[in-house]
Amino acid sequence: MPLYEYYCSDCRTTFDTLRSMDKADAPITCEKCESRHTARVLSVFFAHGEGKPVAGASGGCACGNGACGCGHSHN
Ligand SMILES: [Zn+2]
Repeated sequence: MPLYEYYCSDCRTTFDTLRSMDKADAPITCEKCESRHTARVLSVFFAHGEGKPVAGASGGCACGNGACGCGHSHN
């Protein structure tokens, strides 16, 4: 089950929760203040909005060269 991160706009903290993928965007209650004013924090590969991967992350990593040992091609 994937780990998702959520941000609470009331107490301004983030917290992680393991949820099934189909529940990723379902409403969740803040585990600190029990507020419902929460939003999912998108993964680092989609941190720049518009749902597009950030530059250099198309191979699954942002290392940008072949020396990182991540196993991805860096053509
Ligand atoms: Zn909160």
